[in-house]
Amino acid sequence: MKRALITGVTGQDGSYLAELLLEKGYQVFGLRRRTSTPNYENVAHIQDKIEWISGDLTDLASLIEAVRISNPDEVYNLAAQSFVAASWPQPIATGQLTALAVTNMLEAVRIAKPDARFYQASSSEMFGKVQAIPQVETTPFYPRSPYGVAKLYGHWITVNYRESFNMFACSGILFNHESPRRGLEFVTRKVTDGVAQIKLGLATELRLGNLDSQRDWGFAGDYVKAMWLMLQQDTPDDFVISTGEMHTVEELVQVAFDHVGLNWRDYVVIDEKFVRPAEVDLLLGDCTKAKKELGWELEVGFKQLVANMVDADLKRHAGRPVE
Ligand code: GDP
Repeated sequence: MKRALITGVTGQDGSYLAELLLEKGYQVFGLRRRTSTPNYENVAHIQDKIEWISGDLTDLASLIEAVRISNPDEVYNLAAQSFVAASWPQPIATGQLTALAVTNMLEAVRIAKPDARFYQASSSEMFGKVQAIPQVETTPFYPRSPYGVAKLYGHWITVNYRESFNMFACSGILFNHESPRRGLEFVTRKVTDGVAQIKLGLATELRLGNLDSQRDWGFAGDYVKAMWLMLQQDTPDDFVISTGEMHTVEELVQVAFDHVGLNWRDYVVIDEKFVRPAEVDLLLGDCTKAKKELGWELEVGFKQLVANMVDADLKRHAGRPVE
């Protein structure tokens, strides 16, 4: 039985990855940080199948202990301060959790289980003010937020540990990926949740920032399969994971409102509060390498993804169970 340690297992990606690994027969260990208000919503259905280990990304001793206890074949580092907009008001915490914590994890693995395979959750936000369209693994980076800068550090330290210590360390450069488990602050989920509330008469408007920015949005459930595939290869490498399709925030809004038969123009209000100090205008990934070398395939397209998210939010607000 293979053993995997996941950080950030209670988040969107962690929960889908844990499901995938449990299905494949892995013993799954989840790192959890002590908090007085734990949130296991995303993993409630598999909570008793995960072996929980207490630890904190900023505390190297606890990470070494977590690696020692789990003795993993594979380590997936998904934990971070993951919301771009929060990285301006909290740039230092973002640097500690999203950048330096990657070194803590790599050190824990290097010290306690150097032959474990390591996956780092890198991000298309590293491309920021894009230097080429579409973006591939070799496109120069130009981050546009403290979050993007921190992720870039995490990416390069992963590459560096691979090259310095010959560790099996991979960096997955994942473009935006969404699901009904996405945090409510991200634009996709904010929109699908807002649409559901408006449809059910629980809200009358939806306040958003920049509707012109464009993103390459995929389904998180598809993307965790790519993480796993990266760690099954003969040699470690970095891969872009994306859909190769780009949509504006306005299109997202339109598709979501259309799905429930409403006109978005009647409900959306532009609120400067949600406009960012520096914007990433567009992201579009070319994942030819992943398709060719990993055999990775996308299953859920943009419209289907938005429809699934709206339906899940409708169910949730109507008090019905959501998978
Ligand atoms: P990101 O790509 O990781 O920053 O993912 P987000 O879902 O947070 O934001 C995607 C895009 O939506 C960005 O260009 C935001 O500026 C834009 N956007 C417009 N209005 C909003 C909003 O109300 N909330 C969020 N989170 N993003 C918004």
